[in-house]
Amino acid sequence: MSKNVLSNIDLSAIRQQFPILDRQVKGKQLVYLDNAATTQKPKAVIDTLTDYYSRYNANIHRGIHTLAEEATIAYESTREKVRGFINAKHVEEIIFTRGTTESINLVANSWGRSQLKEGDEIIISTLEHHSNIVPWQLIAKEKGANLRVVPIGDNGEFLFDEYLKLLSANTRMVSVVHASNALGVINPVKQIIEAAHRMGALVMVDGAQSTVHLDIDVQDLQADFFAFSGHKVYGPTGVGVLYGKKEILESMPPFQGGGEMIREVSFKETTFNELPYKFEAGTPNIADTIALGSALDLITSIGKLNIRHHEDELLAYATNALLSIESLRIMGNTPNKVSVCSFVIDGVHPQDIGILLDNQGIAVRTGHHCTQPLMARLGIPGTTRASFAMYNTFEEIDILIAGIQKVIRMMK
Ligand code: PLP
Repeated sequence: MSKNVLSNIDLSAIRQQFPILDRQVKGKQLVYLDNAATTQKPKAVIDTLTDYYSRYNANIHRGIHTLAEEATIAYESTREKVRGFINAKHVEEIIFTRGTTESINLVANSWGRSQLKEGDEIIISTLEHHSNIVPWQLIAKEKGANLRVVPIGDNGEFLFDEYLKLLSANTRMVSVVHASNALGVINPVKQIIEAAHRMGALVMVDGAQSTVHLDIDVQDLQADFFAFSGHKVYGPTGVGVLYGKKEILESMPPFQGGGEMIREVSFKETTFNELPYKFEAGTPNIADTIALGSALDLITSIGKLNIRHHEDELLAYATNALLSIESLRIMGNTPNKVSVCSFVIDGVHPQDIGILLDNQGIAVRTGHHCTQPLMARLGIPGTTRASFAMYNTFEEIDILIAGIQKVIRMMK
């Protein structure tokens, strides 16, 4: 426990805010290390959901009664919180979506369909999640554009020189992951964006894994688009964010048609609403969006730097301990990482590791992590991934290591 005191955060106070961490799994205290898949929810988020449905459930924007007004104010206040959280310049640059996947699909469909033409090129990297591959593949096929893929080194590092070679006057979009969900490696997105802009291409950053760990400043990055999911930043599922530069969003056609995104509709013609509503067709996910605001408040009150410091310590501690296991190999063991440890063990299938750890109350993720092309590049079917959040402890890592050693004894 003494190690936990070194960090600038009060771990036991933080853990108390996450009721699920108290539960038992298979008769053992839960050790939740699947945070890259989804984070657990603090009481503040759960209470916000209950409060909304108990006190002011109403549809937003068009109602003039008190409940509708309260709901609208709460919903729009989350937009402002998100703006501050990623340092966007204008609040109307924040579009609420269902998550990172929908945000990328929005850009691929709206920007891509209206802008791409035959022979244009879209650059992605080998590290991408399927969510940042498939939408581009679909639109590229439809428009006769080509997908180019930046190769990686054996440790998962983005090969910048190879990227520069791929950039050309044909490049229209570069869409890259900020931090890899499968390996944890952080891409040099600022430099990637600078180089793309020099060639006149736009850049979309998949921030699904970075937003919870790193300080995000979209103005400093100069990102044209940035996406993240609420459920990976201690918020609810079913809500996410697309940031886009105002002038680019303004030039894009709507993604979906329906209520809310219109200014005026006649059977002859429809005119569209202003930003951000142009991209928010239909009744949005009001409760979860408001609760996302509570999640961001919690992160801000604890302090992103404090959280990062603690997670870096957890990562270093776990990396050292894992490397002491002889038959274990960490995939993507680079210096610049978020708190994700992905590993393989000689002769033991990741799925068996996952099941046997679950029997000990330890939740990790196994498989290809929705990055099949990355797994193919690394020459493995999948990994076991332990990913750490602000509420994880050094004791939990000790339990993980003991659990892995037990698995190895059982399987050999
Ligand atoms: N991109 C990355 C890097 C991810 O880790 C994930 C989810 O795991 C996604 C995109 C998709 O996020 P969502 O399923 O929340 O839309």
